[in-house]
Amino acid sequence: MYFEEALLSEIESGPKIQLVFDGHSIIAEAGASLLQAWAAAGLPLIENVGCMGQGVCGACRVLVRRKGERLAGTALACEMQVEDGMQASFVDHFPARRPHAYDLHALTDSWTALDQIDAVFPEAKNCRHCSGCDRACPKGIEVQNMVNLAAAGQAFAAAALFDHCVMCNLCVAACPEHIDPAHLGQFVRRMNAAITLRPADLITRLREIDQGRQPIDFEAPGANPPFES
Ligand code: SF4
Ligand code: SF4
Repeated sequence: MYFEEALLSEIESGPKIQLVFDGHSIIAEAGASLLQAWAAAGLPLIENVGCMGQGVCGACRVLVRRKGERLAGTALACEMQVEDGMQASFVDHFPARRPHAYDLHALTDSWTALDQIDAVFPEAKNCRHCSGCDRACPKGIEVQNMVNLAAAGQAFAAAALFDHCVMCNLCVAACPEHIDPAHLGQFVRRMNAAITLRPADLITRLREIDQGRQPIDFEAPGANPPFES
């Protein structure tokens, strides 16, 4: 009872948002992300921890149901803003149903691309075009399209669609055919990288480091110098 009164007095003091997050009633600043709201409420963050707000790691998967809506959707807690009456909960990691073993060196043979995709991801051609993966993706990636392109051997086109995938694996959970779209996407991206030339600026930079022409400033803010042995 005391807790509810404290919540209400906080609401009255300014424009605040009340929501339920993983079973905790919390008050959040308007405009805060779910992740910020969780941290500001003093709740411990011991799982689903990754890049902490950069939107690049996919670790802070959440199920979200908006006020008045029956169905819940998926999102990243670092990108979804709090809304009044929202219910959210962190989602566990979804491992692939089975491991996908392949030889990275064999990916350089573009003549066998279609065979390799078919051998490692035989389920890809079973896509039932249900769009579950598209709806689950918090990055707005055309996952279904990627799966269909990959199943047709169009590895480069499929890889390009997957450029912004953060490996949250929500599409893996959503797929009724166990295609593991996130892992298929990673596979075609690796195939793409294995077949195409490396970026010239990366090669130049690596060469400069090898030749000692890229000094590392250990005094720079945030630098992490190696331990003296
Ligand atoms: S494609 Fe799948 S793993 Fe990648 S961001 Fe979208 S839902 Fe997450
Ligand atoms: S969820 Fe699976 S079956 Fe449905 S469209 Fe996506 S890849 Fe195809």
